[in-house]
Amino acid sequence: MFLSYIYFMYKKILFASCVALAFWSCGEESQNTQPPQNTQPVEAPVRLAPAFNADSAYTFIEKQLSFGFRVTGTKSHKTCADWLVKKFKSYGAEVMVQSATVSTYDRKTQLPIQNIIASYNPQASKRIIFSAHWDSRPWADEDSVRKTEPIPAANDAGSGVAVLLEMARLFQQKNPTVGVDLILWDAEDWGKSDQTAESYCLGSQYWGLHPHKANYQAYYGVNLDMVGGIGAQFLQDEGSLQYAGATMQKLWGIGNELGYGNYFSYEKCPGLVDDHLFMNTLGKVPSIDVIDRRKGEDGYGFFEHWHTHQDNIQSISKETLKAVGQSVAEMAYREK
Ligand SMILES: [Zn+2]
Repeated sequence: MFLSYIYFMYKKILFASCVALAFWSCGEESQNTQPPQNTQPVEAPVRLAPAFNADSAYTFIEKQLSFGFRVTGTKSHKTCADWLVKKFKSYGAEVMVQSATVSTYDRKTQLPIQNIIASYNPQASKRIIFSAHWDSRPWADEDSVRKTEPIPAANDAGSGVAVLLEMARLFQQKNPTVGVDLILWDAEDWGKSDQTAESYCLGSQYWGLHPHKANYQAYYGVNLDMVGGIGAQFLQDEGSLQYAGATMQKLWGIGNELGYGNYFSYEKCPGLVDDHLFMNTLGKVPSIDVIDRRKGEDGYGFFEHWHTHQDNIQSISKETLKAVGQSVAEMAYREK
């Protein structure tokens, strides 16, 4: 709120300056040709990212949904992986697929996972990560019906994947200064709420223990999860603040500066288990989570259709995709 207020005041001052300048200009021709000594032009904040196209991001969600449920280990999942790799390559990325087999929480299932890593400026030593999980949840356990069936997962996390693909499209138009790795985590949503934290995020856990490149290091990581919901609220979770507070403030500052303060709220909320946790603890990359948290009567939950069959294309807002996408793109281009 405080930064929004400053931005508002800045706009007000800018407006007042323009009015004054216009007034001065009108009367100028017949008067003095020298501007007053104390008139300083008000500089607009520099914008480095090209325009993030929310229509394009939206179609990337539709395309993912067209493959069916992207449940790890299924044919739809594999078909979608092939498309994702092809798409990143078409946008000029160096793409690596990290394949492995991992155990699920009950040790009964061996899952073939694929983390997809699309790199820009692969030789650059300073690197940053933007990530999202690309698998869809096998169960609608938060729904009241068909609880054992999979969900469309348009927002969780088709939206995050879509934002990363649109970023890749921008990177092809204009190369970022630093190395950027766009990472799609597999098998995030295989977890069970009555099991341990480690039942979730199998892909990022594997990567944390087995980095895709020897001695891999990144300056910071930004994980996107449920970043396309209508009326999304991105709060500051204590885990992200603890591990990468400066990175969180940087992104929230850019979001507010670009006019998306309604989404990037400075309200704090408890930490949570998501891929950023294992990027921090196992991967040793200071990482934050951009995730839609909603305050309910009994604490903080997620977006309203979380882990239900209603997590479909109707739950997606292009305005939210734009707010997140433009902000993270700007963050990537500002890094030197
Ligand atoms: Zn989920």
